[in-house]
Amino acid sequence: MAISLNSPLTPDLNKLTNYLSQVNESGWYTNFGPLHQLLTERLEEYLGVENLLLVSNGTLAIQVACKALNINSAITTPFSFVATTSSLLWQGIETAFSDIDAKSYNLCPKTLDKALMQVDHYDGIVATHVYGNPCDVESLAKVAHKYNKKIVYDAAHAFAVNIKNKSVLNFGDASTLSFHATKVFHTVEGGAIVFKHKADYEKAKKLINFGIQAGGKLGEPGINAKLNEYQCAVGLTLLEQIDSVLEHRAYLFELYRNKLKDIVELPKWHMDASVNGAYMPIFIGCEKQQTAVLNALAEHKIQSRRYFTPSLDLAYPQLKSDGCNNSQKLAGGVICLPLHGYMEASDINSVVNVIEMTLKQKNDEKVTTI
Ligand SMILES: *Cc1c(COP(=O)(O)O)cnc(C)c1O
Repeated sequence: MAISLNSPLTPDLNKLTNYLSQVNESGWYTNFGPLHQLLTERLEEYLGVENLLLVSNGTLAIQVACKALNINSAITTPFSFVATTSSLLWQGIETAFSDIDAKSYNLCPKTLDKALMQVDHYDGIVATHVYGNPCDVESLAKVAHKYNKKIVYDAAHAFAVNIKNKSVLNFGDASTLSFHATKVFHTVEGGAIVFKHKADYEKAKKLINFGIQAGGKLGEPGINAKLNEYQCAVGLTLLEQIDSVLEHRAYLFELYRNKLKDIVELPKWHMDASVNGAYMPIFIGCEKQQTAVLNALAEHKIQSRRYFTPSLDLAYPQLKSDGCNNSQKLAGGVICLPLHGYMEASDINSVVNVIEMTLKQKNDEKVTTI
């Protein structure tokens, strides 16, 4: 049986149709309609946040957050999905890279401190909670405070993750989410921004509606980044089942980690964070072993992906960077294994067995060649 890397959550059609009929009856298809309002309230309550603004995708979420916070130059992580950097560049933001921590794979506060000590003209820091593993938010807050920088967290992987029972989205000046179909929770395409300050939320709400102000006055030019009512219907439907999905994903994630901890290297997870089971990254530094594992998984019809690669400083060599040695090394050897809400414990066993057997064979080969 084939095991796919990911499998988007399927909305229950009866529930979905119920919501869609409400939209048809009201004739209100977009522009902050009733379902937009309802999804906003339910998400704020579910996630434990305020000032949540739904937007049309996670990429525009980053752009709008930076625009609302007046971030025109930023230091960011080289180890993330390309959108973290490409959105900044599209927004015309002067962008530089600072290296990640070798254990957590997240932006390293110490390295960042050093970078800012040398060049202090950046407005903001854009960090990703990569794979849903929270950054060292306390240390990053100290660095941001020391140099008077805004922080935007790309929390596209970190839906419903808490640090000591507080949502990870409550750290920084803004956090962005993606509700793309491949993410833990989705609206087919979509996203959100959670702002620390109400005033920034209000500003962004106008920015995503062309910059139209109260009473129809035109202010700072905006963009169209609204989430429509049909997509909100998908969100409302899926939110009803998300608890059990997250619980199951977290269970699968822990199962993988327990079985793999002595076989491959694993990123070090934040001690006080809850897990959402968004991704299952492993690291195999030896290229031969990595290739053998990728081939063996493919032979067994198990999908996997080298993700994230390349390190983004290599994708955008024209941008300033501090060398990003950790990111380059990790991007060379990280593999994401299948993990989604429709997998079973037996699937995890199959994946782990293939990896274990392959690495054992490789090690035996090594011994005989010596
Ligand atoms: C998915 C993702 C995005 C982009 O989100 P879209 O909704 O697809 O635009 C941005 N950053 C990270 C880290 C992501 O994984």
